[in-house]
Amino acid sequence: MTNHDWTGAGYSTRAIHAGQDPDPTTGAVVPPVYLTSTYKQDGVGGLRGGYEYSRSANPTRTALETALAAAESPGDVKAHGFAFASGLAAEDTLLRAVLRPGDHVILPDDAYGGSYRLIARVFGAWGIEHTAVDLTDLDAVAAAVRPDATRVLWVETPTNPLLGISDVAALAAIAHDAGALLVVDNTFATPYLQNPLALGADVVVHSTTKYVGGHSDVVGGALVVADEVPVPGWRTAPDGAGDVAGAVRFHQNASGAVADPFAAWLTLRGLKTLAVRMDRHQANALAVAQFLEQHPRVTRVLYPGLESHPGHALAARQMRGFGGMLSFQVGSEQAALDVVARTRVFTLAESLGGVESLIEHPGRMTHASVAGSALEVPSDLVRVSVGIEDANDLISDLGQALDPSLVP
Ligand SMILES: *Cc1c(COP(=O)(O)O)cnc(C)c1O
Repeated sequence: MTNHDWTGAGYSTRAIHAGQDPDPTTGAVVPPVYLTSTYKQDGVGGLRGGYEYSRSANPTRTALETALAAAESPGDVKAHGFAFASGLAAEDTLLRAVLRPGDHVILPDDAYGGSYRLIARVFGAWGIEHTAVDLTDLDAVAAAVRPDATRVLWVETPTNPLLGISDVAALAAIAHDAGALLVVDNTFATPYLQNPLALGADVVVHSTTKYVGGHSDVVGGALVVADEVPVPGWRTAPDGAGDVAGAVRFHQNASGAVADPFAAWLTLRGLKTLAVRMDRHQANALAVAQFLEQHPRVTRVLYPGLESHPGHALAARQMRGFGGMLSFQVGSEQAALDVVARTRVFTLAESLGGVESLIEHPGRMTHASVAGSALEVPSDLVRVSVGIEDANDLISDLGQALDPSLVP
């Protein structure tokens, strides 16, 4: 079903068509949800299209994996897509595939809390060491490298929730000098706005729960792995695969945290409209950021699209837009808790990237798991995922939440 090659086509054409040729038997324009666990063999080993058992491969998941790889591969970048049950399942599978006890990981000091928890508390128990570093400080990153031990440099840009921007190409050079993989969590930027593989990254991670799914109705994750990247340390996967894509393929099947067919179908449906949604998300986010920046009760706004943001110039160079996420500070924890309790258009909830605007208090909600660590976030921080509603309604909602005395 994945016969047409869309290499060289524009982003939206790739996202809408790659892996999604009309069904050969019925002509169905949309890839069906293949709710089957197993496949008839034409004689032992006579597989049709390589399908044997749905943990190993399922046609709906194949369509999503092909489309995600194409979405992250501009020009002639060659890559392999893998879809998982969640973003953290994708991360877990990748780290198992490329790390061994005694290895060391460098990660951002404002990484997504769940990624930090996985690396520090799950992999830590299996002998993996880590150092949290400010990735905008390239000297500090280079100084954190441990020769013959650092195997992964984990990058998030923009970061969650502080919207830090780091230089993917420069970090790739540091990682590759050290013989380590450069892994980029591209959840906030999305494949529409940033393609880390084209900047030298080896692996892209997505929580497709967020913008790719885009409608807050499905949990999923993905890895997109550049072609022919050797496993660091030149070790081979248990099935002999010497490259990262082969090792991930082995581990995806061996540990089995795959996307189910319906989740894959919903995620693929979301991917097709990502570009148009992102255009609106970021237009609204800029309008909201500009409103907050001049509001007397707001002490700081973190949005890479603002010229006041320290990563603005780098983001303008490395991304094709600034995304729909922003955070702001309001001076005290109580003020932050009050703001998130008062909004009516913004829903108080974790997660992000859906069409509806969400607001939350990272210190007590999404980032509670990093309290007391190097990753602790300011207690007066409010994070918003700016949806695609009308910008005026979003601005007046935040206005009344910041200053209830203004409500008529
Ligand atoms: C949500 C998120 C994850 C984890 O993904 P899940 O789908 O929730 O498992 C990883 N990274 C970032 C940046 C996220 O926002």
